[in-house]
Amino acid sequence: MAQIRINNLCKEFGDFTAVESSTFTIEDGEFFMLLGPSGCGKTTTLRMIAGLELPTSGEIHIGHNEVSNLPASKRDIAFVFQMFALYPHMNVRKNLSYPLISQGMKRRDVKAKVAEVAKILDIESILNNPVGGLSGGDRQRVALGRAIVRDPKAFLMDEPLGALDAEFREHMAEELRALHDRMNATTVYVTHDQLEAMQMGDKIVVMNNGVVEQFGTPQEVHDRPATLFVANFIGSPAMNLMPFSGAIEVGSQDVMLGDSRIAIPKQLQQADGELVLGVRPEHVSLQNDGGYRGRVLASEYLGTTQIVTLETSHGTAKARIGSEIDIQVGEQAALQFDANAITLFDQATGAALSSERQGRENANG
Ligand code: ATP
Repeated sequence: MAQIRINNLCKEFGDFTAVESSTFTIEDGEFFMLLGPSGCGKTTTLRMIAGLELPTSGEIHIGHNEVSNLPASKRDIAFVFQMFALYPHMNVRKNLSYPLISQGMKRRDVKAKVAEVAKILDIESILNNPVGGLSGGDRQRVALGRAIVRDPKAFLMDEPLGALDAEFREHMAEELRALHDRMNATTVYVTHDQLEAMQMGDKIVVMNNGVVEQFGTPQEVHDRPATLFVANFIGSPAMNLMPFSGAIEVGSQDVMLGDSRIAIPKQLQQADGELVLGVRPEHVSLQNDGGYRGRVLASEYLGTTQIVTLETSHGTAKARIGSEIDIQVGEQAALQFDANAITLFDQATGAALSSERQGRENANG
């Protein structure tokens, strides 16, 4: 398997820019998610990695080789188009052997390779079964097996679980992740489902309108969104975003939200003007009295927790709190934010204010 490096990758279709200056690195053995809404450029990026689409500019490196303009057949990667696309008239063994026989591999070597892959995937007992009668899980293993036998440098998957119903999908997602861990394969996986990306990925690239908004671990994109788009797109419910006018001096300890003083992380870079305070519902608690007040609009029971929606002077805000706490619609509550979990954004650019040290590093290039 191999590392994949994407450098300033662009794709234009006529006047339309589908992918704009993407730069990120997929480490060897990583389960890597390309995440974003429909039309953001995920599939185009994946197709450029596969060699099914050539970039307008920029570079793709797989392992030590630059492959930007190589045809798909020279890249040695497996595009798992559809988990369930198998040859229906062949049994499992023939489905696995076929890619190797068509490459001209000797029969004895094919047999050994198929046995090795069947062992990894735990499908030795069904090698002689027709694929038609297999369960969904076994079909997925065989489809993966067909890609693995070729020993590719990486696997590429485009919404492989998209057509499945929710329960089966969750089961398949777990299984796919477990298989990945057993094979330690570099996998690039396209999805528009943020929960799937968070659940399965080691790293996530969040794309919007052809642009990489953020690149990081699931925890980084969740806890420290780099842009307003990521704050909104990741998390269920999304991050609370409260616009306000203000100024932040280096070392500031708080901002004013209306009449209320809200504690913020101290090391933020300097900022001034129209800002947005972001805090996830998990980091909001409700008190009887105190500063920033809201009126309860609704409460949604979720078992051990509940999501309470409140109307505040700066828009609606949600709090995820224990379901044992008694909350009545219409009552007033004071919202308490965990200061260290607050992110402030510049409203005009949508970018998060970084820590003061990082801000200076960015300014210095
Ligand atoms: P989806 O999940 O809906 O497929 P996506 O994020 O994978 O979304 P892409 O398929 O990469 O999006 O498409 C990105 C944009 O590029 C879309 O607006 C699409 O219409 C456009 N596009 C893709 N392929 C072509 C093409 N061959 N010619 C013209 N425009 C294209």
